[in-house]
Amino acid sequence: MSIFKKKKISENQVQWKIKRGTLDFILESAKSTYPNEFGGLLRIDSDEKDTILEIIILPGTISGDSHAIFKLHMLPIDFSIVGTVHSHPSFSFHPSDADLLLFRRFGKVHIVVAYPFTYNSWKSYNHFGIEINMEVV
Ligand SMILES: [Zn+2]
Repeated sequence: MSIFKKKKISENQVQWKIKRGTLDFILESAKSTYPNEFGGLLRIDSDEKDTILEIIILPGTISGDSHAIFKLHMLPIDFSIVGTVHSHPSFSFHPSDADLLLFRRFGKVHIVVAYPFTYNSWKSYNHFGIEINMEVV
């Protein structure tokens, strides 16, 4: 248990940031994909390693509202990729059980955007699915 506790604390110490233009891209992609889900990977800036700069859209990730939009074997081993983003075609941005499994297996930070895909309808989560604060810069 102590190992988990230490990991959790150190992850919580990272103040994740996202560029406003990157967030806009997520919201626009979610809107244009609706009522299907949009899914992508979060890539950080090579200098500012706590700042999400780019979204990589995986081919073939969209499969309706199943929430199983990420194929784990397709995820690249790339240390500039820190986590995932996906949309929910509902008002809920709470991670599903499938989302929580994904969060635990891949990445450090995850974003879920919910309908109607505005600045007030997204949340970020850590590896454990616990909501974290992300600053828009
Ligand atoms: Zn989900």
